[in-house]
Amino acid sequence: MHQTISRSFDTLDGVFDVAVIGGGITGVCVAREAASRGLRTILVERNDFGSGTSAATTKYIHGGIRYLEQFDVAVVRESLRERRILALGAPHLVEQTRFIMPGWRWSRPPTALIGAGVLAYHGLSFDRNIDTPDALRIPRPRWMSKSELLGAVPWLDPSGLQGGFAYHDTLNVHPERLLLDYAMSAAAAGAVLLNHVEALDFRLVSVADSLEVRGLRVRDRLSGHEHEIVSRVVVNAAGPWIDRALEPLGRSLGVGVDRSKGVHVLTRPLGGGRVRDAVFARARSGKHVIVSPWMGKSFIGPTDTPLAADERDPVVDPDDVELILSTVNSTMSDAEPPLTFDDVELTTVGVRPLIRRGNEDSTYSASRRHELYHHTDAGVLNLWSIGGGKWTTARATAEQMVDALLAHELKGSPTRAFASRRTAAYGAFAWAEDPRPFLTVATNELVAAGLPTRSAELVARLFGAAYTRIVDVVNANPALAEPVSEAGDVGAQVVVAVVDEAARTLSDIVDRRLVVGTIHAPSADTLTHVARIAGELLGWSPDQRLDEVRRELDRRQMLESHWRLRRSVNR
Ligand SMILES: Cc1cc2nc3c(=O)[nH]c(=O)nc-3n(C[C@H](O)[C@H](O)[C@H](O)COP(=O)(O)OP(=O)(O)OC[C@H]3O[C@@H](n4cnc5c(N)ncnc54)[C@H](O)[C@@H]3O)c2cc1C
Repeated sequence: MHQTISRSFDTLDGVFDVAVIGGGITGVCVAREAASRGLRTILVERNDFGSGTSAATTKYIHGGIRYLEQFDVAVVRESLRERRILALGAPHLVEQTRFIMPGWRWSRPPTALIGAGVLAYHGLSFDRNIDTPDALRIPRPRWMSKSELLGAVPWLDPSGLQGGFAYHDTLNVHPERLLLDYAMSAAAAGAVLLNHVEALDFRLVSVADSLEVRGLRVRDRLSGHEHEIVSRVVVNAAGPWIDRALEPLGRSLGVGVDRSKGVHVLTRPLGGGRVRDAVFARARSGKHVIVSPWMGKSFIGPTDTPLAADERDPVVDPDDVELILSTVNSTMSDAEPPLTFDDVELTTVGVRPLIRRGNEDSTYSASRRHELYHHTDAGVLNLWSIGGGKWTTARATAEQMVDALLAHELKGSPTRAFASRRTAAYGAFAWAEDPRPFLTVATNELVAAGLPTRSAELVARLFGAAYTRIVDVVNANPALAEPVSEAGDVGAQVVVAVVDEAARTLSDIVDRRLVVGTIHAPSADTLTHVARIAGELLGWSPDQRLDEVRRELDRRQMLESHWRLRRSVNR
């Protein structure tokens, strides 16, 4: 099993059927769907694949139980259908997790209503176990008594606690790598995928009062070179920035995006690391956070704050961290030391792309539905934009998008049969199979190849069936079985990141291909080690390696210093 994303500019000649702007999960799924159906497809991403909102999620493939409070039943139902499809199609990276909704005497909504919501959520997932092997079947929700709940989640405030509802959703174990799996699937189907390439403008021809889009003008941000891409249709999947991507057209297309900032923090594990359940912790203030056990720590968030119209790349502010910590602290037992800024090891921040709803100043209750905009209505031909959506529903959005292209601009194009709703992602061991026996075999083979057990388990989980590529790299150079990071990543992963997965910067490697950058700030030693392996493949001089390491350290230091300014937290 050996697929590559080649990042080659030699393949830009000729006419593409589809050009996609944006390599988040939406754009990548569109590229996978279009190429798999036989359309000549290209995607450009101005940073790295999955480096935008798609890397900043709460890490759940879920229906979104809280959207029931807004009666957004259609979004919940679609998401639950997709939850099953993603869980069956990528079981190595989509893992069942038990969620607990505690109820206190003071809870709003009251505990009985929370229970009704959990049951409704379960009812909406009526197809959850169709063609599902026993190991992946989602059980019925159930009530946990106070003592059972405190046994499972000892950090919860016991005073006034009535018990909790336990139900199951699925964890997106490593969203960055799952997105890469879909990118690999797209590349395997023939799509050209170019990271660090920005869409600058559209190739346009005026026809009467209309503008006809005939492709894109793009710039490779690594070399500075500009290129023309000729395509029959362009799909704008720029996530929260779809309106900005349309600006070069110089006319209003009626696409409204509400942007909302969402922050998470990664802290020491609450409950001393014994807790296996995710907890939906809703404080007396009405604010809630999800506390998830992840990689031996607690991943807590998100916030939801409207973004000013001119704000571009938001950073984590002390207020964001304060809000998360004070919310979770207020649901904690006195026996659990309150979380402080010193407990925060890492933060993530992303911008939600939300469909505009008018003048309301809260984005918390905004719908997570998606919308396909056909700009023909505004006099611009061969151009679509995708607004809103969730990570969970990106596959469905892509399917609808390609159906729409084939019903309009690409009508009559020769296509192949492809059913993404029944097709495993690249890296999956098999469709709808319990991954555990496969993971055991993969781990054993990686250990036999020379990886330490902890690294072997990590690589098996991250790569799934593509672990064989790591074995091949290590067999060619046994030194690459050595860990390069505190997290257990090994040198062979760096090689695969550069050679197969189009990583071009240190951040591409440590933040999205390896695990280390997603669990804490990598040390200078780790960055130097990674830069040495990557630099040999990318032709970096010793000075360039130093520059890359320094740039990555400075970037992280700058982001962290912004929120570490404040240190006190209310309980
Ligand atoms: C805090 C938070 C938590 C979330 N939690 C969940 C969750 O648990 N489960 C879930 O299902 N969903 C969740 N979501 C929603 C989900 O993350 C998003 O809906 C999804 O990632 C959006 O993907 P996207 O591809 O549309 O956007 P993005 O991932 O932002 O991708 C758009 C890409 O377009 C690129 N781009 C922009 N302009 C250009 C240009 N001119 N040229 C080239 N490229 C360009 C950007 O660089 C970016 O990479 C969460 C969102 C947030 C913010």
